[in-house]
Amino acid sequence: MLALLAWTTSLVVTAADLGPPFTVELSGGPLAPGQPGVVLVRPQRPLASLSAGLFGRQVELVPWANGRYLGLVGVGLDDPVGRAPLTLSYALEAGEVMQVELDVDVVDRAYPSNTLRVARRFVRPGPAARRQIRRERRELAELWREPSRERLWRGNFILPRQSELTSVFGVRRIFNGRLRSRHKGIDLDGSGGEPVAAANRGRVLFAGSRYYSGRTVILDHGLGLYTLYFHLRSVEVAAGQLVERGTVIGKLGSTGRVTGPHLHFAVRLSGIYVDPVTFLQLELAADPLASTAATRPASGPVSAPASAPASALEATAAQRL
Ligand SMILES: [Zn+2]
Repeated sequence: MLALLAWTTSLVVTAADLGPPFTVELSGGPLAPGQPGVVLVRPQRPLASLSAGLFGRQVELVPWANGRYLGLVGVGLDDPVGRAPLTLSYALEAGEVMQVELDVDVVDRAYPSNTLRVARRFVRPGPAARRQIRRERRELAELWREPSRERLWRGNFILPRQSELTSVFGVRRIFNGRLRSRHKGIDLDGSGGEPVAAANRGRVLFAGSRYYSGRTVILDHGLGLYTLYFHLRSVEVAAGQLVERGTVIGKLGSTGRVTGPHLHFAVRLSGIYVDPVTFLQLELAADPLASTAATRPASGPVSAPASAPASALEATAAQRL
């Protein structure tokens, strides 16, 4: 789908007060709760500044091919459906900032639900575990506060491992009949020990062990974009390390809150989690910084699978976390 939000360029080129001096394209949609998309802004004349926001969250715009600017946008699972304002602030000259608002349609999306059973300590953690969970939550909140201000990712993202999808994003889950949560990533099948690759270039923000996610790697791709890899058997990178797309960062495992070995893979964008399957399908190959990186590796992990039918995925969804 390509929703085009455009102004009559003959007017905007010559007279900024008749409309904003750029056109905006939204692709990758339709936007729905939990779903990402791409905003492309094409200025009609040089701008002194340009920034964007959706649902009050900043959309980072980066220089893109053909004189355009690209922004990755996401709708949170808890964001409302209906019309959402995409705001664009710009200045023709320093100091004179103007703002326009575009209505973006956010459509409803049904997510499946399921119930599953895990060890009691993951549903009713004891006092020591609760302290650990609180501490980990604080530590992670600190890590999110300082995203890399440099764009580290290049071109398309890849699946960290090519295997069957055993649980989709957004599933409503009830653990042991009492704990409700949403599945904020996808689960990729495995038996344990298989290599897990970085979805794109980035810096290791976290490499270590956590209560729920087990052995965990978090990659900072810059400008508020992160990928997360949970339940690893082993971690093979260290915090601060710069990794390339396809670099092996660990081995698939079954650590943390799981019902069996698998990789939980998540994408965090501007403070919310978005569907990794849709995210990996976003067309980012025209990245001007990805001269060689735009070529996917000949072996190892490749691009996201075409979306499998929801029913087939639901059938196995209860098996993994
Ligand atoms: Zn999962």
